[in-house]
Amino acid sequence: PPDVEQLGRSTWTFLHSVAASYPEEASISQQEDMKSFLNIFGKIYPCWFCAKDFTKYIGENQPKVKTQEDFGRWLCDAHNSVNKKLGKPQFDCNLWKKRWKDGWDE
Ligand code: FAD
Repeated sequence: PPDVEQLGRSTWTFLHSVAASYPEEASISQQEDMKSFLNIFGKIYPCWFCAKDFTKYIGENQPKVKTQEDFGRWLCDAHNSVNKKLGKPQFDCNLWKKRWKDGWDE
């Protein structure tokens, strides 16, 4: 259905933007906040089968939230696992920051 796609695009934009503004070195409490957020996100995301798979992914791939680079990469890998499931191309995670923070060169 189109809203699963539109919701997905908007939500990935939100999540990668959150990663782009995440602290370069996160404090323990910032790390705990992000882990809580991701757990709650998995309970309330309004596409139930998406949320169920995402929660399973988090269980098998503990969120890396020590640094902005760690979190950005972890989220990129999580997004790639959904891309794989949907038969979409893999995104090169070396480029996540260019895409979501610094902007492309041209
Ligand atoms: P999107 O996948 O929405 O990506 C948007 C943009 O992000 C892309 O144009 C690209 O520039 C960039 N991008 C792509 N891959 C990456 C990456 N790995 N890292 C960083 N940037 C990237 N849909 C389903 O049908 N079934 C599901 O189970 C499902 N689960 C989802 C779970 C979550 C947590 C979320 C947020 C979305 C889920 N979706 C699911 C929606 C799906 O992932 C897409 O958002 C939707 O299909 C629209 O895809 P799109 O091709 O427009 O690009």
